[in-house]
Amino acid sequence: MSESSFTSIRNATIASIIAGIVLLALPVAREYLGTFLSWVWSGLTWCWTALMTSYALPGWVWIIVFLFTLIGAVSIFFRLKGEPAKPEYHSYIEDSMYGAKWRWQWISNRILDLWCYCPRCEATLVYDDSSCHRFSYEEKKTNFICENCGHSVVASVPGGNKAYAIGAVEREIDRRIRTGAYKRN
Ligand SMILES: [Zn+2]
Repeated sequence: MSESSFTSIRNATIASIIAGIVLLALPVAREYLGTFLSWVWSGLTWCWTALMTSYALPGWVWIIVFLFTLIGAVSIFFRLKGEPAKPEYHSYIEDSMYGAKWRWQWISNRILDLWCYCPRCEATLVYDDSSCHRFSYEEKKTNFICENCGHSVVASVPGGNKAYAIGAVEREIDRRIRTGAYKRN
């Protein structure tokens, strides 16, 4: 016999002797213990009877019960798993570029609804990329105009038409995220 098992047997013996002395000394406690044990026993017998009784339930009821259990387990799993955390830059939805105020939304990791507004009066700007037309000799650029501020040019993106200007702003947003410059605003 190993020493540890000898120790545990010794401890158990000491514990039962102490318990026996306490029970003998306190008849009230012995009475309570008897009530508690009979209560536990009646609970166990009730469970046993409930488990051993055969139920006349048709098979489809069991299928429904099984499906509900499965749905419950799956929903608990996803609740515990939680939604994946959003990237920090998803709170970055506004910035000043080319002289205008640009706003957008994030749908997963894509920029959506990107457009510019007047920094003075908050009006939605309108674009003019007529310099990019085929027979124009002007330098290619897209102007963004505020109708509310006397049709003044608020922002000007050189290099191409409206699609090019939107792409340039998206690239600038991307650059500011990668360099962390957007956090300094
Ligand atoms: Zn304005």
